[in-house]
Amino acid sequence: MKYKDIIEKMTLEEKASLMSGKDFWQTQDIERLGIPNIFLADGPHGIRKQAEAADHLGLNESIPATCFPTAATVANSWDENLGEKIGSYLGEEAVSQKVNVLLGPGINMKRDPLCGRNFEYFSEDPYHAGKMAASYIKGIQSKGISACVKHFAANNQEERRMSIDTIIDERTLREIYLTGFEIAIEEGKTQTVMSSYNLLNGAYTNENLHLMRDILRKEWNYDGVVVTDWGGSNDRVAGLKAGNELEMPTTNGETNQEIIDAIKAGKIPEELLDENVDRLLDLIFTTEKVYQQPTPRIDIDQHHKLAQQVAEESIVLLKNEESILPIAPEKKVAIIGDFAKNPRYQGAGSSIVNPTQLDNTIDSLKDANLTSIGFEEGFNRYGKKDNNKLNKACQLAQQADVVLLYIGLDEVTEAEGLDRQDMKIPQNQIDLLHAIHQVNTDIVVILSCGSAVEMPWIDKTKGIVHGYLSGQAGARAMLNILTGKVNPSGKLAETYPIRYEDTPAYHYFPGKEVSVEYRESMYIGYRYYDTANVNVRFPFGYGLSYTTFDYGDIDVTKDGVTFAITNTGKVAGMEIAQLYVSTESEAIFRPEKELKGFTKVALEPGETKTVTIPFDDKTFRYYNIKTDQWEVEEANYTITIASSSADIRLTDSIFVKGTNASSPYNKENLPTYYAGDVRNVGKEEFETLLGHSVPVPTWDRSKPLGYNDTIAQCRYAKGAFARFSFQVIRFSYWFLRKIGKRSTANLIIMSVYHMPFRGIARMTGGIINMAMLDGILMIVNGHFFKGLKHFLKERKKMLKTAKEKKMHLAEVGKER
Ligand code: BGC
Repeated sequence: MKYKDIIEKMTLEEKASLMSGKDFWQTQDIERLGIPNIFLADGPHGIRKQAEAADHLGLNESIPATCFPTAATVANSWDENLGEKIGSYLGEEAVSQKVNVLLGPGINMKRDPLCGRNFEYFSEDPYHAGKMAASYIKGIQSKGISACVKHFAANNQEERRMSIDTIIDERTLREIYLTGFEIAIEEGKTQTVMSSYNLLNGAYTNENLHLMRDILRKEWNYDGVVVTDWGGSNDRVAGLKAGNELEMPTTNGETNQEIIDAIKAGKIPEELLDENVDRLLDLIFTTEKVYQQPTPRIDIDQHHKLAQQVAEESIVLLKNEESILPIAPEKKVAIIGDFAKNPRYQGAGSSIVNPTQLDNTIDSLKDANLTSIGFEEGFNRYGKKDNNKLNKACQLAQQADVVLLYIGLDEVTEAEGLDRQDMKIPQNQIDLLHAIHQVNTDIVVILSCGSAVEMPWIDKTKGIVHGYLSGQAGARAMLNILTGKVNPSGKLAETYPIRYEDTPAYHYFPGKEVSVEYRESMYIGYRYYDTANVNVRFPFGYGLSYTTFDYGDIDVTKDGVTFAITNTGKVAGMEIAQLYVSTESEAIFRPEKELKGFTKVALEPGETKTVTIPFDDKTFRYYNIKTDQWEVEEANYTITIASSSADIRLTDSIFVKGTNASSPYNKENLPTYYAGDVRNVGKEEFETLLGHSVPVPTWDRSKPLGYNDTIAQCRYAKGAFARFSFQVIRFSYWFLRKIGKRSTANLIIMSVYHMPFRGIARMTGGIINMAMLDGILMIVNGHFFKGLKHFLKERKKMLKTAKEKKMHLAEVGKER
């Protein structure tokens, strides 16, 4: 142990006191031993340090910080150097605000386009997400503080996120849902990992010994800290056993006492606590070193400029019929759409940043080489169709050569805590598009959404540029793309299906009441569409440029693939070349092809560059569930170099000697997986793949409600009071939506409806403790008076203990 000397001086109580937060954002300090407290702050695309009232829902404002584009946006840059640069700027700002652990990046897979937090995640591909995350982490940690990769693991939906049991087969878990984390940990060397809220195959991730011990600690040799997601601890002692050093936020000492009791009762050895304390101390001391030097000053303007550059590299040109873009300076342009005035630049929830400044299109026009003839709002962001606004927009459009139509998803549609209902853009915006098309067909749509949307309206446009959620400087970046000052180079890191019904998890997302079964197995995103031959709107890795690129001279060796790229157009540009690997061998079922590398190359017109994408330990491996390890199948592999997953430019093949493990599968028992058309996998076949049966997916309505049941389950409670409260919650949600207060309504779903009862104690910072919660549960289960009595008795007890503690501390203070 690194901090043996200090740990030996600590009492059992002091050691346990470190295992949960001091308050909402800080760890406990121990003054007499010189152990400081450290500060943890969100988030992945900017610092959200709250100076005053703390919450994790993004309600209260934080200290201003640069709002960079969100991860879903930066993912489109496919640029690890850029990721590292953003990371280093984030790290600098974190240091300037005295933050020790920055709670990002988030790297969960985009299993389904409706996941409410997709805007915070990178990709549907684990290799891509892992590489981008590793680059962020390197950048953040180069400034002396810690990143915190989250949410570990298999947290791919917001629906019932604190209670859902994610059921995945081991190979899919490894190859799809953990590979990104593996790269982030092994290459990025993150010092902190955040466990997710959900259960994984029957155990909360934070207590899941297979995930936390076998994989994270033993296989990946991770020796950093695991922090719970806020309020996500279920059983503190079980968490400790799995290696969870820090529970957040504070529990007012309640769960520290559980650790003490378990040690005193001989249930766990004190050495287990010591090991956890040792790793936490390492995080505390290493991330405090930077604060022994004077705090650096931040050049806010330079940070804003970087935010703009990042956005420029991440914007994706999706359609450019008749070369409508870039727009020539003499063309008369009508700017239409509320998003041009009020940019949609980040998502909602715990990642919300209070930007240092915010560009919008209208104000930025003065610096753009563009002839604007005016602006019209065109639609109500949160309302129904407005004919007056629509007519005014059409009148303006009629006079223009080109219409720039700014549309997208609003702030409350893409939010932490709840999933989207569909993949549509609001109908009033589509109505406007159709109306404008009647008077002017030269329309360029500028999209602002953090995730994939359906585009049945695509034929009504000549150009589509997707800005995603491009941060505080996104508006200016977009104008630079539209006018050709910057040549677009972003490519999609997720597939755009034609309609939601086409997606692989359509029948399995978001699962039932208790669990979500990942029956589609490893076939997510392009892995599915490619294998099952399903047409998509835009494939993974797709994006246009104002120039063109030719590929040639492929050469494959055992170490990697080398090829040449030439810019065959008239302007400078950047091309993202992608390496996919596949095999014809059918011994083990696999997707048609898988991403195993990528590179971004800048080229002047006419220039050729020869580039190499090296192979690595992940290029040919697959996880064998019989040998329980990574293996390589001996076979011929096709090496594909592509401009998108659907635009293959070069192929070659290589024979790879395998590791001689035999196939763990019996093909006859898994026909759907071998065919790859996984939208309708039967329960039996899924259970064969899993190797065990699936849990009953619905609530047992006859059982009394307990700590891990959710408030939504009060609907079936024995207690009339609980059933009445449930109806009140439901009515409030309905009513708030009815009167247009959608974001407040969302909060009900996010922080009340799907909250397990234990969350009442875990989220209130000790105001309600578990003993009081027992009283609440008695009420819920039909023992109103007994429950109320118990609650009040426990409350009195808690207040008395708190008073005694306060007096004790005051006395100790006086003595010193
Ligand atoms: C989110 C985390 C976040 C934490 C602290 C949680 O609800 O899931 O991503 O870091 O709150 O705000």
